[in-house]
Amino acid sequence: MSDVRVRFAPSPTGYLHIGGLRTALFNYLYARHTDGTMILRIEDTDRTRFVEGALENLLKALDWSGVEIDEGVMLDENGKVTEKGEYGPYIQSERVEAGIYNEYIEKLIEEDKAYYCFCSQERVDKVRDQQKADGLTPKYDGLCRSIPLEEAKQRVANGEEYTVRLKLPKNRDISFEDRIKGKITFNTDDMDDQVLIKRDGYPTYHFAVVVDDNAMKITHVVRGDEWISSTPKHVYLYEAFGWDAPEYIHLPTVLNENHKKYSKRNGDGMVEDFIEEGYTPEGLINFLSLLGWSPDSEEEIFSIEELAKQFDFDRVNKTGAVFDKRKLDWVNGHYVRDLSVEELAERIKPFMEKSGLIDESYPEEDLKLLAETWQSAVDKFSDAPKLSKNYFLDESEIEWDEEASQVLKEENTKKLVDAYLEKLGEADEIDEEFAKTIMKTLQKETGIKGKNLWFPIRAAITGSVHGPDLSNVMILMGKEKIEERLNYVKENF
Ligand code: GLU
Repeated sequence: MSDVRVRFAPSPTGYLHIGGLRTALFNYLYARHTDGTMILRIEDTDRTRFVEGALENLLKALDWSGVEIDEGVMLDENGKVTEKGEYGPYIQSERVEAGIYNEYIEKLIEEDKAYYCFCSQERVDKVRDQQKADGLTPKYDGLCRSIPLEEAKQRVANGEEYTVRLKLPKNRDISFEDRIKGKITFNTDDMDDQVLIKRDGYPTYHFAVVVDDNAMKITHVVRGDEWISSTPKHVYLYEAFGWDAPEYIHLPTVLNENHKKYSKRNGDGMVEDFIEEGYTPEGLINFLSLLGWSPDSEEEIFSIEELAKQFDFDRVNKTGAVFDKRKLDWVNGHYVRDLSVEELAERIKPFMEKSGLIDESYPEEDLKLLAETWQSAVDKFSDAPKLSKNYFLDESEIEWDEEASQVLKEENTKKLVDAYLEKLGEADEIDEEFAKTIMKTLQKETGIKGKNLWFPIRAAITGSVHGPDLSNVMILMGKEKIEERLNYVKENF
């Protein structure tokens, strides 16, 4: 095992977002690539955003995806949240309870690198509003910076409410080297005296992230690039403590199809939604790996093991990565195509049942035939009921597509439908023999052939002139259903 230690450090405020999974994945791939350690730490010091059950949901989604955690917070064999590792606890609220942050904040205060601030929230807001109105960058005006430490301590002892703020030096450049974006510099005059300890006594993210990354010996911080503007604060804190900062790798933003940030706030893009739509973990992971990273070849289909072999930050892009759902479907489709017919039947079953088209009594053989019939067109399991619904629905519920409706009104169609019904009357059931020969028979008897034969029959039976192997469809639907359907077409078109 190498000494590379990376971490995924989510703040669980609901479900795992696809952007979060991409971050977790890139951490994981790098850990595996370097034979390092993948750590999961929970950053829950913002108690106002606490959501019950969010942690379990997050870990379950991660577990489903195949991104494995070596150390920190994880699920045990029974699916219960547990922690493993020698740098724990790995949940920040537990670290607060254990008093871990106290000595660090005291050290900064004693060394005049942080100060007590007694300004009320109203005052802070007012100052900011005024600055905004004056066209300035809003930040704390430093009123409490110069309160002598002894006096501040006395006020704290008297029970006055306070926060602790970072005391940034004036007009100093703070630089760091980002592995992807290169050298980045901020001037402290453009930065805020960041709150490190909040009024409720909890550390802020900025303070806890530095203390913990250092305590947990994190070597590489891999996260979304929305954190770049926070990084100089972190870098300054490392310097203030006299610690070495980790290497920074900021990943390109995940953009939606309108090239805007694919954000949690719109409520979409949760990993759970993709599970519910019937994507495979392999497909989703493969797709996410290409969101900001590209391999050294034209190849685009990779298992997670193969990705781990090839992945490095050198091939991570600087600019935003667009989440293209069609591409996701295309990638996922590869994994659907790879399944055996039996596996596919098994996987589409819950989706067919949920849509109400079939119930548990539906014969396994038919489900397999359905899977075989649609395997080349299903990109995600929820496609199966969408594609096949017309075989099951009542005639009155079917959507006959435009082209089919047109074809069904033609004179040829009536002739063909009658001929088909006649042949059906002579048969006991639609078996393979019937299904494979009926089109030839109709051609012989009516003299109609090619498109003029196939389109009307397909339209009458399935509601569309296009579709998969028609003989399979006939077998699936069976004599009774097709008879019903053809009679309906005769009467209604
Ligand atoms: N807790 C932060 C988040 O919710 C983590 C940022 C970081 O990785 O430093 O994304």
